[in-house]
Amino acid sequence: MKRYLLAPGPTPIPPEVLLAMAQPIIHHRTPEYEALFADVRRDLRLLFQCKNEVLIFAASGTGAMEGAVVNTLSAGDQVVVVRGGKFGERWAEICEAYGVRVLPVDVPYGKSVDPAAVAAALKSEPAVKAVFATHSETSTGAVHDVQAIAAIVRETPAILIVDAITSLGVMDLPMDAWGADIVVAGSQKAMMLPPGLAFAALSDRAWALVPGARLPKYYFNFTAERKAIEKNQSAYTPAVSLVVGLRESLRLILAEGLPNVFARHDRLARATRAGVQALGLELFAEHPGCACTAVKAPAGIEGGAIVKGFRQRGITIAGGQGSMRGKIFRIAHMGYVDGFDVLTALTALEFVLADLGHPVTFGEGIRAAQRILQK
Ligand SMILES: *Cc1c(COP(=O)(O)O)cnc(C)c1O
Repeated sequence: MKRYLLAPGPTPIPPEVLLAMAQPIIHHRTPEYEALFADVRRDLRLLFQCKNEVLIFAASGTGAMEGAVVNTLSAGDQVVVVRGGKFGERWAEICEAYGVRVLPVDVPYGKSVDPAAVAAALKSEPAVKAVFATHSETSTGAVHDVQAIAAIVRETPAILIVDAITSLGVMDLPMDAWGADIVVAGSQKAMMLPPGLAFAALSDRAWALVPGARLPKYYFNFTAERKAIEKNQSAYTPAVSLVVGLRESLRLILAEGLPNVFARHDRLARATRAGVQALGLELFAEHPGCACTAVKAPAGIEGGAIVKGFRQRGITIAGGQGSMRGKIFRIAHMGYVDGFDVLTALTALEFVLADLGHPVTFGEGIRAAQRILQK
């Protein structure tokens, strides 16, 4: 059976990247590795649209999230966390694990935060050190207006920490221009790599908090990592093969050009939305992002049955997490993905819905998507 991976991470990997990673391993304390790392450092800054170094850790994306907390805060500090899905909730869980006081700004699943609610939270708590947000809330498919949130946080002494794990390389997030202070990412989403690398970029304002941050840390020590990266090294053994793949994936992303990469994701997302809506299904997110489309399972059909139907046809998509389990399913279209992947997903959706006894006119979903993809 031919297999297709259309889940919101891990995502498909281009053959160029797979081949690069299949090379015999090199040693990391060598001029050869340092030359590789110099390329990666330069290209990461272009992808993050920032002037400062992008730190790299051998971890899943959550490692960089934890690093952002422990390198900027101390126990008892007050923070504001925007929660509207599993990943916004994760920011709060990490903070609480370290004794950081969380003032949540709660948004119902599927909705995007009203930036005015962040402003109100900042006003109600004058000593806020940091605001945590999620650009693309993968669990609901919603996008949050990070640009507007950044403009609000900028007016206060707080820093803005953004989970961009499914927005980096999907939607424009010019970190320095918008004034986001920490942006974290992971390798297995739009960066077209296997899981295992976590990234964090810090503004000067964020770096200024680092020396005073008292939370315990050892591996995720941003100061140690920055010192090493300036010598084209890492503090501990890097995930060498993933870094080799990263050079190749960055090369591919920058060769396509960031504006084209964002336009492609936008087109794929619009085609997917049009396709599912043409089949009479409803989107879950009020303001859907371009990384994945969350769709409400039609009445009488359990979301898990749709995911299972896809799997039986060789396609991996995702269901809902937590209280969204069974109610939604999610089709990802990020990274090494094009219009034919969207058409594959929509064709499968037509088959699966028909299998489950839902009325479907074959071709309606894909026709709506084709109209968008043709342009
Ligand atoms: C995937 C994802 C994460 C978590 O990443 P892990 O690599 O599983 O640690 C965090 N935030 C968002 C928005 C994600 O999509």
